[in-house]
Amino acid sequence: MTLKKDSYKGINYCIRCGNELTIQNDNEEKLRPHCEKCGWIYYKNPIPASACVIINEKKEVLIIKRKFEPGVGRWALPSGYIEINQNPDECAIEEMKEETGLNGEIIEFLGFYTDFSPLYEKVISFGFLMKVTGGKLQAGDDAAEARYVAFDSLPEIAFPSHRYFIEEVKKIKHL
Ligand SMILES: [Zn+2]
Repeated sequence: MTLKKDSYKGINYCIRCGNELTIQNDNEEKLRPHCEKCGWIYYKNPIPASACVIINEKKEVLIIKRKFEPGVGRWALPSGYIEINQNPDECAIEEMKEETGLNGEIIEFLGFYTDFSPLYEKVISFGFLMKVTGGKLQAGDDAAEARYVAFDSLPEIAFPSHRYFIEEVKKIKHL
């Protein structure tokens, strides 16, 4: 993929010093906005996120109704953007707790999926199959509702990445 000037529409000023950025090749010949004053380089990367698939003993999947954008009012897996001090697995555990009230641990990594994002252009989601280790199911601050639903009764799930992780889990035979 080639980076073009168009890739940086609206990226005009250095976030460190406020100087105007110039778009020029870096030492790998990749076009990026540079700050000539402080040396900061703007890297445009996908925003990383983690999503949790949680299955109960009845083989139902835990979904939440989203309280905030993106996808406000729609159903999705518990999920969130990865903070700078987190790894993808830590993010999954924290989002599970915040959105469902349940404590969890990772059973297995389900892979990754890249989605278009209206706000960030591209989000790369990491999916995890989670085990419930404690807590009490209740919608957290970021969720309007949280409930277990059978695979064949799921409402429309807001994000393609979450639909992909659910399909991946359906292929796991030992569940
Ligand atoms: Zn600067």
